[in-house]
Amino acid sequence: MSEIQREVMDMDVLFVGAGPASLAGAYHLAQLIKKHNSNIDAGQAGSKVLLENGIGILEKSKNVGDHMLSGAVVDPKGISELFPDFVERGFPTEAAVVGEAFYLLTSNSKIKFPFLPPTLKNHGNFICSLNKIAAWMAEQIDKDFGDQINIFPEFPGREVLYNGDAVIGIRTGDKGIDHKGNPKSTFEAGVDIHAKITLLGEGPRGSLTKHLVPRLKLDQDRNPQVYRTGVKEIWEIPAGRLKKGMVVHTAGWPLASNLYGGSWLYMMSETSCSIGFVSALDYDNPTFDPHGAFNRFKTHPYIAGLLEGGKMIGYGAKTVSEGGYWSMPQLYGDGVMLIGESGGFVNISRFKGIHLAIKSGMLAAEAAFEALQKNDYSASCLKRYDDLFRQSWAHEELWKTRNWRQNFTGGFYGGMIKSGLQIYVTGGGKKSRTLLRADHTHMKKNLHQSPLERIKPDDKSTFAKLTDVYFSGTKHEENQPCHLVISPENVADICNSRCKEEFGNPCQYFCPAQVYNMIAPEEGQPAQLRIDFSNCVHCKTCDIADPYQIINWVTPEGGGGPVYKNL
Ligand code: SF4
Repeated sequence: MSEIQREVMDMDVLFVGAGPASLAGAYHLAQLIKKHNSNIDAGQAGSKVLLENGIGILEKSKNVGDHMLSGAVVDPKGISELFPDFVERGFPTEAAVVGEAFYLLTSNSKIKFPFLPPTLKNHGNFICSLNKIAAWMAEQIDKDFGDQINIFPEFPGREVLYNGDAVIGIRTGDKGIDHKGNPKSTFEAGVDIHAKITLLGEGPRGSLTKHLVPRLKLDQDRNPQVYRTGVKEIWEIPAGRLKKGMVVHTAGWPLASNLYGGSWLYMMSETSCSIGFVSALDYDNPTFDPHGAFNRFKTHPYIAGLLEGGKMIGYGAKTVSEGGYWSMPQLYGDGVMLIGESGGFVNISRFKGIHLAIKSGMLAAEAAFEALQKNDYSASCLKRYDDLFRQSWAHEELWKTRNWRQNFTGGFYGGMIKSGLQIYVTGGGKKSRTLLRADHTHMKKNLHQSPLERIKPDDKSTFAKLTDVYFSGTKHEENQPCHLVISPENVADICNSRCKEEFGNPCQYFCPAQVYNMIAPEEGQPAQLRIDFSNCVHCKTCDIADPYQIINWVTPEGGGGPVYKNL
């Protein structure tokens, strides 16, 4: 394609990804400016902060919330700081937590833990749907600061714009390009949005954050980020099984003792439940399948009994950043800050990140406000965000569990004991960094020759991946370039030959949407990789777990992807 002429748009502050971190950050920044300017009007010394071009939020989905997925039991600590009147404003909760249980599963029984580990206590928390929360936060922005904050749905951030190593904005994705890369009649060039400050709030394994962090060396002396894949369904079940507001977690079966993960079951009403299974991606067997583990989990007599006679009505999958404190990158650079999961704000010992994402957005907004006052967007000025984080409850919470994830690398039971001792006895364990390795480095060659057994879906409580994808509402324009970018040379040399030999093409197993398929083009010919990108639910598992790291997940045309409802 010949050189594309792009429109350039200026913003004062630009957020990427309309998740809770960005929405909270944009709202809080507008709030700080409003309060400051009213104080000046009332006679306080100083000058007003005036936005020349406003605050922008880019979002790849069609509607804010469509791509948001979480368990979720929300600690209201974050939202109540941003909106002290969050209840009166109608913050969307499904149920207040009324009871909790934690079971260790064996293949046909369950053992109830006599006490709840402190990190799993949820008294005072709320069962929520993250996609409803994001949509509600966008409504609050529109209501209170619609004149200053612009949300741009269907505008995926495609590329970070730099001046040297200083971030100066974001290029959004082009629209209307065909599968061969040629413009269609509907072609619209992406826009270069220049901003004084850019905040990346892309969620787990952000496609921009992934390249920015090593380029700016923000991960120096940090652990690599590590992840888990969560696979989730929404079910309607007969009344009387579990009380509304009940929260159940399980560990153990069907995961082997060297794997880290577990399940949740949250009752959103007497008849509606959120059920899901998470598997850490540092497994060694290339035929391990997070979706398959979820299916098997649902065949456990306890879970099967809860679901019997019910109906699955929604599906989704997403990775979660679970490295914790030592995996957090440096949170700032020249012109840029990392918020929410892009900054590693997840407390995996509590299975929670939404309250931390909101807090990180608010702290970054405070740093951005001071930078606007000083007209200084350098790293040394934006370091203020890191200082504010270190003085906050978010730091206190993440510091306490700084070694949590590392404890489980040697196996589940040893990890439970070590983590328990650290929380109760040593205040979080060693003060120095305990090391972690990137997930993909754990996968072992040749284990695929004895593949893990998978159950055959019965279409009642266990489903094929494609059946589940149907319930995620996923759609992409078919005639566009594949957004799972593997160079043709790598497909030929690695996917269709070396990986087949060494690992048995693990992408066929780890993708929870059956995007990767090894299919013989004609009978008798060797199987080759076929990528059905339009099924992709944007979970990012492939970008993380691919043992050769040759899959690069990039944003597809704006508006494509899942349409999550109540997830
Ligand atoms: Fe997830 Fe990758 Fe599969 Fe898309 S292609 S659903 S990002 S594993």
